[in-house]
Amino acid sequence: MLASDLDLLALQTQDQHHLIHPFTNHHELHQQGTHIITSAQGCWLTDATGSRLLDALAGLWCVNVGYGRREILEAVYQQMQALPYTSSFFNTTTVPTIELASRLAELAPPRLSHCFFSTSGSEANETALKIIRRYWLAQGHPHKKLVLSRAYAYHGVTLATTSLTGLAPCRDPFALPLPDFVQIPTPYPYISQRDPEAEAAWCLAETERIIKTTGAERIAAMFIEPVQGAGGVIIPPPGYLTRLRDLCRRYEILFVADEVITGFGRLGAWFASAELDPDLITVAKGLTSGYLPMSATLISAEISAVLIDSGVFAHGFTYSGHPVCAAAALANLDILARENLIQRVKTEIGPYFQAALQTVANHPRVGEVRGQGLIAAIELRGCSGSQAAALARQAGVIVRGIRDLIALAPPLVIRPEEVDWLVERLCRVLDQLPTL
Ligand code: PLP
Repeated sequence: MLASDLDLLALQTQDQHHLIHPFTNHHELHQQGTHIITSAQGCWLTDATGSRLLDALAGLWCVNVGYGRREILEAVYQQMQALPYTSSFFNTTTVPTIELASRLAELAPPRLSHCFFSTSGSEANETALKIIRRYWLAQGHPHKKLVLSRAYAYHGVTLATTSLTGLAPCRDPFALPLPDFVQIPTPYPYISQRDPEAEAAWCLAETERIIKTTGAERIAAMFIEPVQGAGGVIIPPPGYLTRLRDLCRRYEILFVADEVITGFGRLGAWFASAELDPDLITVAKGLTSGYLPMSATLISAEISAVLIDSGVFAHGFTYSGHPVCAAAALANLDILARENLIQRVKTEIGPYFQAALQTVANHPRVGEVRGQGLIAAIELRGCSGSQAAALARQAGVIVRGIRDLIALAPPLVIRPEEVDWLVERLCRVLDQLPTL
């Protein structure tokens, strides 16, 4: 819809009267008026006033192939015409659903042979939790129910996945976590001001202490993100996750990689956790580049065999394996492969983006710039991330404000000249921040 067709004020009023927004302070929203986006192309959004904005967050870390991809639209249209919906319950499914499951098995680390489809990252993690419970119960370990996750983790918003999440602002308003969720520390050297290696060693020792005092025979699984995204783009020190995985193996704790942000190229690999050889991987976002909602829980052959052998798997959503979403995902994966976008992140645009961002590292308002592939954080001094994100929006750039930092994760198709433009705008924003 064109900006001229919209009565912006009327829409904002209707919004105020009828819409509860996710993760939003509604008083601020109603004072400022909702920002309404009307169209997008490549890495650029157009809002209802006709302004163009560079989407340096790829929606919510998800529009990997960029906006306006005809191939995805056509695949969706054709699938809608042929068969808009059939459930995957009760011995039935559809052609694209099967094709996508086998494509994911080809792309995933070798042990992950099967997958279960849902529609969001939260549901993919919720499904992983239920699979894990089912697995240990079927293996004769009914007491293995506790789940470990890390401080600053973000794994979703259902009751159980909020309980996995290590962020107080997500948990406290709902009096969570539920029982059975245990948190371990995470290395965050910028905050701790410790040497990353020493910080990692301390976190591992502390994790082992928690495992021993809790009792490994009660611990079912550990969830990790290869890079913690919504918690503040926290990059693990080299070797830390491998050692954490080894610790889990030693105590017979399943190891789950939440690749909802990192899957499908953001870190320059199809799966950032491949070398960790996880027992389960969860993916969403980049699976369809956000064109339609779809997620998957990838499952090792060993766990799948137990699920298959232990009667009806009594879990599933109406939209599990939705054929139109699966068609969108297949077209999206084709684009990622054909345009070599993931290799491009690894060897070209990822290094270019990180080097360009480092040019602001010495700005007096910047505490640290860190990142990997096409994800990054700029820690700010004396200013909140949301203040900076609001100024960035006025300067034509969408970023995410988290605590005292801004997070960036542009579409994988971003061009070098767009990165330069982004950095130039960020410099302006940093210069405009209220004085210390
Ligand atoms: N896991 C991670 C690592 C995420 O970043 C997110 C969302 O940002 C989720 C899970 C939850 O995904 P969704 O919002 O699709 O439920």
